[in-house]
Amino acid sequence: MAQLKPGVVTGKDYLTLVAAAKAGGYALPAVNVASSSTINAVLEAAAKNNADVIIQLSNGGAQFYAGQGLKDGFKAKVLGAVAAAYHVHLLAEHYGICVVLHTDHANKSLIPWVDALLDHGEAYFKQHGKPLFSSHMLDLSEESMEFNLNECARVLQRMAPLDMSLEIELGVTGGEEDGIGKEMDESADNSHLYTQPEDVLQAYDRLSPIGHFSVAASFGNVHGVYKPGNVQLRPEILKNSQALVGKQHNAGAKPLNLVFHGGSGSEKEKITEAVGYGVFKMNIDTDLQFAYSEAIGKFVSQNPKAFLYQVDPETDKPYKKFYDPRKYLRLAEENMVARLNEAFQDLGSKGKSLATA
Ligand SMILES: [Zn+2]
Repeated sequence: MAQLKPGVVTGKDYLTLVAAAKAGGYALPAVNVASSSTINAVLEAAAKNNADVIIQLSNGGAQFYAGQGLKDGFKAKVLGAVAAAYHVHLLAEHYGICVVLHTDHANKSLIPWVDALLDHGEAYFKQHGKPLFSSHMLDLSEESMEFNLNECARVLQRMAPLDMSLEIELGVTGGEEDGIGKEMDESADNSHLYTQPEDVLQAYDRLSPIGHFSVAASFGNVHGVYKPGNVQLRPEILKNSQALVGKQHNAGAKPLNLVFHGGSGSEKEKITEAVGYGVFKMNIDTDLQFAYSEAIGKFVSQNPKAFLYQVDPETDKPYKKFYDPRKYLRLAEENMVARLNEAFQDLGSKGKSLATA
């Protein structure tokens, strides 16, 4: 088995990690973070499971990391992502696992965000000989195919010399993404929720000569948690895409690096099936947000007076130990770790870390 140095993986090491997951039939959870607390919970969970992990920031998560009080929101989205990346670079290796550092969905209006992150990435590369992030994502699936691929090609041209990878999205994943509120129209024809393998081939033709990239193809997946049954998951779309690209490019059985968006609440058999078709990354956000908040809600409801009084007006009992934010944020982290234990198990990545001990 290939072995890698623990810490943030980029370039060739990133490709080794992806190839090992595909060959081993497992996937890594990609967790959205917005604070040092959530980042540390992910690192803790990965270490406990002896598994590698993907840490990603949405533009909103990055802005929160920098602080909602920072007046220039765009600057906050850029600097917050950079600050979080430094946090992970410094700490990840000490947890003894490999981490892919990634940014999440960026639609057309957020192309300048990705370009600004690449400005920082180029400066970081000059100094350290490696990129700041392992990969970025562009989600131009709402635009024309031509615009989508042109822009992805332009950005990948900037990223390739930095040893970075690009994640793209084809077809429209339903539901609600960070900053993009799209209501599900249950009566609508859902054919747009399914990516055509021909589109994936077109993307491969265009992008593979430039650099490495991964594809989020829609196969009925929905962002967020909705009542089940509205949309049918069809992972065979992934299988057909692999087969078409493999045949046209004489590129083997699973030439595409696939990612699974909108995985929260999916049936476990469909997840396993998708992973078997070359999905190496599954985004998990909604379920972990709930796990984090659930623990706090429970603690507050069990100790209501501690959140009303510093000292109990009847018993004179001091409540400092209860309202100290570290108390309930730690419970939140522990519950997030518990939910992540399940994710590593479901995705088959438990015990599969490539990091040297
Ligand atoms: Zn998506």
